[in-house]
Amino acid sequence: MKTREEFDNIRNHKKQYLNLRAKMILAVQLELILCAGLSYLIDLLLKALWPGMRLNFIWVLLCVSMIVGSILTVMISKYFYAPMKKLRMAMDTVADGDFSVRLEPGSTSTNEIKEIYAGFNLMTRELSSTEMLQSDFVSNVSHEFKTPISAIEGYATLLQDRENLSPEEADRYVEKILFNTQRLSSLVGNILILSRLDAQTTLPASSEFSLDEQIRCAIVLLEPEWSKKDIEFDVEMENVKYSGPEGLMHHIWHNIIGNAIKFSPHGGLVTVRLQTTETSAVFTVDDCGPGISEAAQKHIFDRFYQADTSHRQQGNGLGLALVKKVTEALKGTVTQENLSGGGCRFTVTLPKTL
Ligand code: ADP
Repeated sequence: MKTREEFDNIRNHKKQYLNLRAKMILAVQLELILCAGLSYLIDLLLKALWPGMRLNFIWVLLCVSMIVGSILTVMISKYFYAPMKKLRMAMDTVADGDFSVRLEPGSTSTNEIKEIYAGFNLMTRELSSTEMLQSDFVSNVSHEFKTPISAIEGYATLLQDRENLSPEEADRYVEKILFNTQRLSSLVGNILILSRLDAQTTLPASSEFSLDEQIRCAIVLLEPEWSKKDIEFDVEMENVKYSGPEGLMHHIWHNIIGNAIKFSPHGGLVTVRLQTTETSAVFTVDDCGPGISEAAQKHIFDRFYQADTSHRQQGNGLGLALVKKVTEALKGTVTQENLSGGGCRFTVTLPKTL
């Protein structure tokens, strides 16, 4: 069972049981009854054994209460103190930076202890997942930086040996250096936007602009990519006025249309639509590429995820993460589905602002 569900279940269950305060009151009342009963029996017993003995019942009650009270207090404090001690030790472990610690309540633990332990487990699990995300992020960033930097270094070293290089070879190496520099610059750009969006609670200022015009511009900017592959476009867009952070929204269209071009075969067709409903603007892009497997569909919006290894060089796995982040910041959605005839469709739905 997931820790969050476990925690919620325990919290909801709590109402069905006696709470800690009721249990304590009950224990004190039982202790009083026990002491009174025991004192009465002892008093009877002593009087039966030594009939001439003059014994004040108050003294018997006092002695019995002291003995029973001490025994019960030791037992109760063990019952409550032991789990608290366990919790304090676990918290020391967390304070030392070890988030793998989990607490198991005993079968006799009170519901309050179970709730505290479940809350503690939820906290450590979330701390470990944040830690894991951060370390994954750092290792992914380092890897993504290392590859183009090594390539640039390699080609620059080859270029140094000018005497043994033909002009064509030199041109090819310069081209490779430029390609890897562009990769680096797009990587840095994407990381920068993502981290700004992560840190920001407010979006950049909104302005009013034509959404269809912005999408057309994104297609034009991608001209070198689609003309290289002889990709055809079928574009039908309504005139949509929109108010939003224009610069940020450009990344949505650039990444989705860029992917459609990248994953379509030579001579393929990319279909772009922009329609409006009563409440939203709906943008779809269909391509005729290989589509996305069911297993990969779950991860395509994750940072640095790349399902298709053959196109790894042409991206960094941050494009769709950025698309999702921006659309969600605009209270919209982005979805992907495979088309029955092959290829896939990305749909971005944005709430109407004008
Ligand atoms: P990348 O920079 O690798 O394109 P993205 O975040 O844009 O990263 O996409 C993540 C992964 O989703 C891609 O590596 C690819 O495997 C898959 N993907 C995205 N768009 C498409 C598409 N139109 N057709 C097939 N696969 C796609």
